[in-house]
Amino acid sequence: IRNLVAVLGDQLDLNSAAFDDFSKEDDVVWMVEVKDEATHVWTHKVRIAMFLAAMRHFRDDLLAREYRVDYRQLDDPGCQGDFASELGVAVRKHRPEKIVLVEPGEWRVRELFQETAKELDVDLDMRPDRHFFATHEMFEEHASGRKQLRQEYFYREMRREFDILMKDGEPLGGKWNFDSENRKSFSKEGPEERPNPKRFSPDATTKEVLELVEKRFTDHPGKLEHFDWPVTPKQAKQALDDFIEHRLPEFGTYQDALWTDEPYLYHSRLSAAMNLKLLDPRDVVDAAEKAYHTKQAPLNAVEGFIRQVLGWREYVRGVYWKFMPKYLERNSLKAKASLPKFYWTADTEMNCLQQCIGQTLDYGYAHHIQRLMVTGLFALLLGVDPKAVHEWYLAVYLDAVEWVELPNTLGMSQFADGGIMASKPYVATGKYIKRMSNYCDGCRYDPEKATGEDACPFTTLYWDFLMRHEKFLSDNQRMGLQLKNIERKSEQERREIKSQAKRIKSHLSANA
Ligand code: FAD
Ligand code: SF4
Repeated sequence: IRNLVAVLGDQLDLNSAAFDDFSKEDDVVWMVEVKDEATHVWTHKVRIAMFLAAMRHFRDDLLAREYRVDYRQLDDPGCQGDFASELGVAVRKHRPEKIVLVEPGEWRVRELFQETAKELDVDLDMRPDRHFFATHEMFEEHASGRKQLRQEYFYREMRREFDILMKDGEPLGGKWNFDSENRKSFSKEGPEERPNPKRFSPDATTKEVLELVEKRFTDHPGKLEHFDWPVTPKQAKQALDDFIEHRLPEFGTYQDALWTDEPYLYHSRLSAAMNLKLLDPRDVVDAAEKAYHTKQAPLNAVEGFIRQVLGWREYVRGVYWKFMPKYLERNSLKAKASLPKFYWTADTEMNCLQQCIGQTLDYGYAHHIQRLMVTGLFALLLGVDPKAVHEWYLAVYLDAVEWVELPNTLGMSQFADGGIMASKPYVATGKYIKRMSNYCDGCRYDPEKATGEDACPFTTLYWDFLMRHEKFLSDNQRMGLQLKNIERKSEQERREIKSQAKRIKSHLSANA
């Protein structure tokens, strides 16, 4: 054949560069369900199922269009379990002139394809990933000559470049950022109406995948019984429409709020659909902008949402490719504790963690503030090795792919990159969680207390964190106010906090 067109599980887009010159006569699409990708970190069943279900639907769509497809299922006899061996099998079988591949989203996989093609002595035609607004060159240009990178400035450039929410060269509404309007929590009664997102019942193809995952990955974390994610471009579009109509109007206001037994609130649930390329971010941004112009949603919601997709999502990709592979090794706070065992079981008396981890195991989903200010915050305060935290996040979320997960985890949430993603560590006491949620109402601990039998471990570890890193953080002007507060603590208080923190750490390290 002429081209072996390799399509990876997060490249499910017929409009991608891989298909630019596709010939039904001369080319073959090659797709493979690789066991290694589900086991190199101990992956959640929902994440494995999401990838396999979306891949099989994509394959069926290609076949319906009469493309030639060489698809290897995980349960096919002789399926080798890793990319390199499977690529070898395909090359020997089809004898292609070259392998065509859109640049993989993960550094490790990109290297692997380059090396394997060389070993097999076949040309590799690696094409750019057009899914994103920004090219690598655009990010490089943005980063060049800057001492410090900040999402905010990159986001403004993107708004200008793509003329999104702009009028006469100025941001709509007269400012770039409506964050100050987007930090509300709910009243005591919680969200007024329960925003139920559209759910997608598994069809025969997805059911087959769910059975396979249950059988082959029995001991992996998570449950499959709630699986209701969009697994085709058509469903992803329906999920987008549903979000724009029912949840976008409140998205901004309650963006940071948390509530017991409410995993989704006003969030879009679109990350996995976008990351697997079932949904184009341009369509997502367009739909949100249109909702503003048709007065379906207010500006604080629309801007807040577009900032996530056009700003953060593109920015983290830029950071990933600019700093990999060394980024993975960063550990600026020299954290080395083990991840507590309850991250895999939700078995903890800390109600906020029990809720967020429990929900993660049930659905493979948690929204941003749950990831950043509950599970991420606790690991940061405890001083867990950032690589272990990274592996957990890569394993347990259905939307996890390394280019987006790693900078968020290692950088934004653990401050292990020393300040590329965040200008200061996101640290807070349990009082922040109390303000933004009702988790503390059902908890045996008291977020106000740092010492004593009912002290909140977040609050104890927060003060301990600041004392531990006082010297390192004192160079950071933005930490000034927080550091000033420890100066007010007496020697006695400091000693008590330190010894309580030590007890928490030794208890948790015995349960790592
Ligand atoms: P919404 O809240 O509705 O946001 C809309 C969209 O904006 C999302 O679908 C997503 O595509 C994008 N977005 C929002 N925040 C971010 C962000 N910080 N970085 C990049 N894109 C963003 N997102 C992933 O897609 N995959 C991951 O593996 C992942 N790991 C994370 C790990 C940590 C520690 C943290 C703090 C965040 C992580 N995020 C990750 C970002 C964010 O939490 C998720 O994108 C979001 O919660 C997905 O839910 P949603 O689609 O309902 O998002
Ligand atoms: Fe979490 Fe502390 Fe609140 Fe309990 S008291 S829910 S541990 S923040």
